[in-house]
Amino acid sequence: MKILVINAGSSSLKYQLIDMATEEAVAKGTCERIGIAGGKLTHKAHGKTYEIEKELPDHTEAISLVLKELTDQEAGVVASMDEIDAVGHRVVASGEAFTKTTLVDDGAMKLMDEIKDLAPLHNPAAILGVNACRKVMPDKKMALVFDTSFHQTMPDYAKLYAIDYDDYKKYQVRRYGAHGTSHKFVAGEAAKYLKKKPEELKIITCHLGNGSSISAVDGGKCVDTSMGFTPLAGVPMGTRSGDIDFAAVEYLCHKKGMTFDEGLNYLNKKCGMLGVSGVSSDFRDLSAAAKQKNDRARLALDMFEYDCKKYVGSYMAVLGGLDCVVFTAGVGENTPAVRTGILSNMEAFGIVLDETKNALPNDGTIHEISAKSSKVKVLVIPTNEELVIARETAALLA
Ligand code: ADP
Repeated sequence: MKILVINAGSSSLKYQLIDMATEEAVAKGTCERIGIAGGKLTHKAHGKTYEIEKELPDHTEAISLVLKELTDQEAGVVASMDEIDAVGHRVVASGEAFTKTTLVDDGAMKLMDEIKDLAPLHNPAAILGVNACRKVMPDKKMALVFDTSFHQTMPDYAKLYAIDYDDYKKYQVRRYGAHGTSHKFVAGEAAKYLKKKPEELKIITCHLGNGSSISAVDGGKCVDTSMGFTPLAGVPMGTRSGDIDFAAVEYLCHKKGMTFDEGLNYLNKKCGMLGVSGVSSDFRDLSAAAKQKNDRARLALDMFEYDCKKYVGSYMAVLGGLDCVVFTAGVGENTPAVRTGILSNMEAFGIVLDETKNALPNDGTIHEISAKSSKVKVLVIPTNEELVIARETAALLA
């Protein structure tokens, strides 16, 4: 059985064609910089890397290019779409409409459309991905795999907002979290690496990418996470503000003459690293600008690292101790300076980085970057949301 996994993010689209007999990807790749200049597809198959530079104005263009590449005479891995048994789609937000992996049909897509505003940068991208695939492969079974499932174990006192309880019940407004497949995967990998059972470990997982979230995982179960009702909450991100005093939003809307919808669009698309730096939402651009003494790029990075540090500290208190911190996703896996910024000056809490190990480039394997003297292990673990999604899709079809 071969399962095509589509992971449509806000500025990137990752895909893997996974052979479930081996759980290996026979082809995988990434579309980068979707919606910003300099689009590129990197496709890996047959031990080779194929790079295509092409502007990718939206996710439909990106998926079309991926399907073309998968069936390409040279770079492709299947003769036709018939060799792909099913498609698993990553979906960021489920609300309470979906609590688990769900088969794609018209009814499910109607529900998806109703909840798309929960993650305005991601759910619409996932819908575009599903619709494009249904068009090209109408007979193929497809699954929706939700990031929110892993966070279902949060206790009420962590997942509820302090609003009228009846309103929570009626409108289901609460913290749902995101990136659940990633947090689940890296927490599991950390346990394997440390040769412990997940039940024995207290782990903080930091999924830091264009969108970022941090989770507290106690005994293999998520007990708190930084994202909220939507992925707008938590630490500042590429273009999202992260946590902000709600009264400040009302004040800004009033002063800038924005409607509430415009205010939300502003917070989702024009704030975060992009808004503070005025340079870019992309951490590579920010790091380069900061090196050239751009003060606002430095400020954006400082703010990001400071907020992540606050989550790590508060989750140590929530967990009542800590065995391991995991960094994953685009920024977490590739940016040593950000990891240093987050975990510096935490020796009093048993966290000490080995800067030589921390500086090693990401080679796609697990790196232990804590010093020998560190009580808390610090690991860089490449995430594999696609494998979790493929497993979930295969299980649903079975
Ligand atoms: P998302 O899936 O949320 O779009 P990613 O996890 O792909 O985001 O992360 C995107 C971010 O990671 C960008 O800010 C980018 O600068 C950073 N990033 C990705 N790859 C690298 C790399 N090789 N080196 C440095 N930063 C990287």
